[in-house]
Amino acid sequence: MTPKVHLVGAGPGDPELLTLKGKRVLEEAEVVIYDRLVSEDILEFVSRDAELVFVGKETSFHSCPQEEINRLIAKHAKMGKRVVRLKGGDPYVFGRGGEEAAHLADEGIQFEVVPGITAAIGVGAYAGIPLTDRRYSQAVTLVTGHRMKGEGLEDINWAALAELGHTIVFYMGVANITEITGKLIENGRPPATPAALVSRGTMPGQRTVLGALSNISVRCKEEGVKPPALLIIGEVVSLSHILNWSEQALSESSDQPEGVLREKVFG
Ligand code: SAH
Repeated sequence: MTPKVHLVGAGPGDPELLTLKGKRVLEEAEVVIYDRLVSEDILEFVSRDAELVFVGKETSFHSCPQEEINRLIAKHAKMGKRVVRLKGGDPYVFGRGGEEAAHLADEGIQFEVVPGITAAIGVGAYAGIPLTDRRYSQAVTLVTGHRMKGEGLEDINWAALAELGHTIVFYMGVANITEITGKLIENGRPPATPAALVSRGTMPGQRTVLGALSNISVRCKEEGVKPPALLIIGEVVSLSHILNWSEQALSESSDQPEGVLREKVFG
């Protein structure tokens, strides 16, 4: 059999947000190589005879070196196995899916990409934050907040981001939230701009902390918000007060006792 790898996006957490194609290839897979962000429930679709290979840890985003993951995927494919590389959200959005696919292309191994709902889209929908809305924002930028410590800080064009004035979604931004919000204010984004940090979006225990650019980092520290969480900045965040349809139910179904925080603290 010609080896083929499916790079599958698992979506942001709620297992029902997996695509039909993603579900089918998971059911057919003989080897599933997966990360930490995939909800356990999605693994229920995997056949009992399939081999599950875990390559990510809660505490470290890069726990298994990327070269090792690339090698593992190729190794199983070359054994003629039906391999699924399962990644949180969408494989090509901050997921290193591009690097994995490039490695397969180098090795001459066929692959298909099954897109997933990326965290920004899923979390926005569930937390009542339309990422664009013609009344508030004509565009949205997805940014990684991960490469902020040391090198990489200068990679982000803060002046341009602040000046555009549209919706900005930071992935992996919790640890650097003070630096992120500080840079945006320094570069001219008004301190009163609404901001939200949504943790465990689309999953039991989803929790939204609302604030403004000036105080969201303090509020998140006070509330002890934990990853995975997305920082959403922009006027569209103000819609969360009327559009957050999911959080009551998700926080009630949570095993996390903290519940939901929805105080109005703009400005
Ligand atoms: N490929 C993934 C992103 C991987 S980076 C995607 O397309 O969604 C991991 C980051 O995604 C986390 O640090 C967090 O910022 C965000 N994230 C993923 N799932 C999330 C969720 N359920 N709730 C909030 N943020 C989430």
